[in-house]
Amino acid sequence: DVPMTAQDLLRVIADYQAVIAENRAYLIELDAAIGDADHGENLDRGMKAAVTRLAETDTPTPADVLKTVATALISKVGGAAGPLYGTAFLRAANAVTGKPELTGSDVAEVLRAGLTGLVARGKAEPGDKTMVDAWEPGVRAAERGVEQGRSMRDFLADAADAAEQGMLATIPLVARKGRASYLGDRSAGHQDPGATSSAMLFRVLATVVDH
Ligand code: ADP
Ligand code: MG
Ligand code: MG
Repeated sequence: DVPMTAQDLLRVIADYQAVIAENRAYLIELDAAIGDADHGENLDRGMKAAVTRLAETDTPTPADVLKTVATALISKVGGAAGPLYGTAFLRAANAVTGKPELTGSDVAEVLRAGLTGLVARGKAEPGDKTMVDAWEPGVRAAERGVEQGRSMRDFLADAADAAEQGMLATIPLVARKGRASYLGDRSAGHQDPGATSSAMLFRVLATVVDH
């Protein structure tokens, strides 16, 4: 299995920024239905700041890349998503401090650490109609793949599929965390914006490794 380098992670972040910019209006539309119509704007601003800061960093390690994204998101994005994604990236960075590149099991650990950070920060459980509903099945699929000795390319493709299924499964749910929870039963019938942007992150990760 070819390890994941800091260069690969820089591509992940650049591609994710592009995907978020392309889907800015879509994420705003999803958030308009059950929130305050800013998720696309928040993430677009945060990822642009992350890419700008990364351009000023020379020869980063994988942990440096993840930490730079974390601090950009925490400082530039208000609302729920900035601190949530920021904590996820920070914990992910801390899981691989000092490693020059990441093996398959390191990548699964990075994803698990991100999810642990997300949950520590937001206290959401699976089924609460949040980002966790995409991350949790995505992380589990990655870990299962590592246990089964699958290649990074294969288990990240499985993780992206699982995250997308988790995203779609938020549609019928009633939100129990975040702004959408203020709507009560009226939050049902809408796809969660944060689960959507999270599934996009898993897909970008899989796509970069596949090329
Ligand atoms: P805000 O709700 O402050 O406007 P955003 O619109 O950027 O922030 O992000 C909303 C998304 O944040 C939701 O769709 C949901 O996925 C996620 N979210 C909100 N609260 C939590 C939480 N406690 N735990 C995990 N994710 C959450
Ligand atoms: Mg919002
Ligand atoms: Mg907001």
